[in-house]
Amino acid sequence: MTIRVRIAPSPTGNLHIGTARTAVFNWLFARHHQGTFILRVEDTDLERSRPEYTENIKSGLTWLGLTWDEGPFFQTDRFDYYKQAIQTLLDKGFAYRCYCTTEELEQMREAQKAKNQAPRYDNRHRNLTPEDEAKFKAEGRKPVIRFKIDDHQEIAWNDAIRGRVTWKGSDLGGDMVVARTPETDDEAFGQPLYNLAVVVDDIEMNITQVIRGEDHIANTAKQILLYEALGSKVPEFAHTPLILNHEGRKLSKRDGVTSIDDFRKMGFLPEALANYMTLLGWTPPDATQEIFTLTEAAEKFSLDRVNKAGAKFDWDKLDWINSQYLHKMSPEKLVDLLVPFWENAGYPVDIAGDRPWLESLTGLIAPSLTRLANAFDESRLLLTETVSYNEQAICQLKLEGVKEIIEFVLENVTKIENLTEDSAKEIINQVTKAQKVKKGLVMKSLRAALMGELSGPDLIQSWLLLNQKGWDKNRLEKALKVI
Ligand code: GLU
Repeated sequence: MTIRVRIAPSPTGNLHIGTARTAVFNWLFARHHQGTFILRVEDTDLERSRPEYTENIKSGLTWLGLTWDEGPFFQTDRFDYYKQAIQTLLDKGFAYRCYCTTEELEQMREAQKAKNQAPRYDNRHRNLTPEDEAKFKAEGRKPVIRFKIDDHQEIAWNDAIRGRVTWKGSDLGGDMVVARTPETDDEAFGQPLYNLAVVVDDIEMNITQVIRGEDHIANTAKQILLYEALGSKVPEFAHTPLILNHEGRKLSKRDGVTSIDDFRKMGFLPEALANYMTLLGWTPPDATQEIFTLTEAAEKFSLDRVNKAGAKFDWDKLDWINSQYLHKMSPEKLVDLLVPFWENAGYPVDIAGDRPWLESLTGLIAPSLTRLANAFDESRLLLTETVSYNEQAICQLKLEGVKEIIEFVLENVTKIENLTEDSAKEIINQVTKAQKVKKGLVMKSLRAALMGELSGPDLIQSWLLLNQKGWDKNRLEKALKVI
């Protein structure tokens, strides 16, 4: 049997980290079994669904490398399937028309609340006579379609992640609405609702495993009843653990990021984020291996190694994984990724005209990068012609003997056309000897003069970069003025 799985996002917001992680697990499962991964856009919530969210979801999945084999399918194109299924449920007596008004439902809920009972529909229109129906219609009431849920039953399934799960029929809130009231008089019923649409699609798309977040467990119980009523084989279910913040609560907007776009803007690489997400709830057979591509993870992926317990989102680990990918990347490739981050920080760089210099700069800062967005901080002292001195740098420059050191360096570097690593070191050695000072004093003072601060990237390499731009002499002259 060919494995067929799907990711079924609702386009009511940008691609969420939880949905993306569910997509990762579905993708890994499909690839492991040479199966099919389907993208289905659940856009039946017409008020909240937006085309730009669909675009964001598609581009986010693509960015992460989660390519789909079929789709995107849109539920709004598929109403005929749902209507057919609703008609079948009505014809077979599994569903009925309920004419309750909003006020009646409200009163029902208030009465339940007063008795400290959980809100539920009390199935009062389950057995209406044709006369009752005629009376309600004459009053102008419009019915919803409700699917019968027997209170005295237990729904059970073997969850591929959680083992045996059971649910009481009486905990499902009474007979469930599967279609809204019709909008026009000639419609038999109105818009089909979520649980029904999902089941009809999963049947029609031959889905073999439904892998989705554990927040859908109660829906699964309802959906199993729909499969049975529609005479279809129930797929295997796998409910993935929630993603939690460091306080153990569901990761939410309050934690600063939730959408994949947020992670992209913070400077995480798609390979690194996808790698991290595979570990968010899944333990590879060799738990010591933490860096792998999606394809490598797919070879080893199985649902029985997905944990039941919530997966804590660990920023340090994500940063570590991201840095592993950044440090492995060649400056030639990395530089193109850094350009937008420099630009965002207000430093437009001329990548076409200045590529070799920017590549050298990238090579210099790459080992200290954790996120692409750090690029500006790591390179800001080298991005402008001029320098400004912080307090510590000024103190350093004002130390005894520093003026002579800087004068010596300036004089000697002016004589050299293209500074190299060797000639830079030679100047430093010469000044150490000529001024009879410690090399440490020379290095620290030179750093203060050239960079304006006492810490930063490697001094010699930074000097070479400044020299290639012709900025080192200006900076040394400016330092002499400060002294
Ligand atoms: N559309 C649902 C959601 O975005 C997913 C439903 C499912 O996977 O069955 O949560």
